[in-house]
Amino acid sequence: MLHSATKFISGHSDVVAGLAVAGSKEIGDKIGFLQNALGTILSVQDSWLLLRGLKTLNVRMKASSASALRIAKYLEKENRVKQVYYPGLPRHVGTAIHASQAVSGGAVLSFALEDEDAVRQFVGSVTIPVFAVSLGAVESILSYPAKMSHAAMSKDDERDSRGITDGLLRLSVGLEDADDLIADFSKAFAKLENRKNLASGSR
Ligand SMILES: *Cc1c(COP(=O)(O)O)cnc(C)c1O
Repeated sequence: MLHSATKFISGHSDVVAGLAVAGSKEIGDKIGFLQNALGTILSVQDSWLLLRGLKTLNVRMKASSASALRIAKYLEKENRVKQVYYPGLPRHVGTAIHASQAVSGGAVLSFALEDEDAVRQFVGSVTIPVFAVSLGAVESILSYPAKMSHAAMSKDDERDSRGITDGLLRLSVGLEDADDLIADFSKAFAKLENRKNLASGSR
């Protein structure tokens, strides 16, 4: 099995690494031989950072997943949010299968605003999450799949049909206090609301 250690396993946005888990010692030894021959190994610094991160994986995942669930529930109630995608929410598609295979909904969720304009305003207003393409770290990371990770997909055929619309944002929840994140988002949504009211001329 292959894992990325760049995300939650190291967890601090400072290592690019991966691991191959072999089902037998024989295969493990073969991989080890090839690594030794080809030099495809981690540096000393990266190994040290990875081992350090690994020690707190369990508590980081628990804390971030608990916050993600709270934030997902909060986002469901925001009227500028059209849809929340998080397998820890009861109404999410496939939640029963997910619950039979995992101990929580995890630390990553996504939510859809109405369009790119709303996304730009929201991203410009939030102050706590880092706006970047990554995920799986101690800091919360907000990313915009349509223009970042999934920009290479064609809009109509691939992105929109998979729900990766121009209004979709992905949030990887870190270790900040969930109340602080929710307050930060609430302020950003309130700003969106004000602008909408100004634009439509209402008071
Ligand atoms: C995910 C990611 C990569 C790629 O890492 P993999 O372990 O190959 O998945 C590289 N850089 C950043 C910033 C990333 O978030």
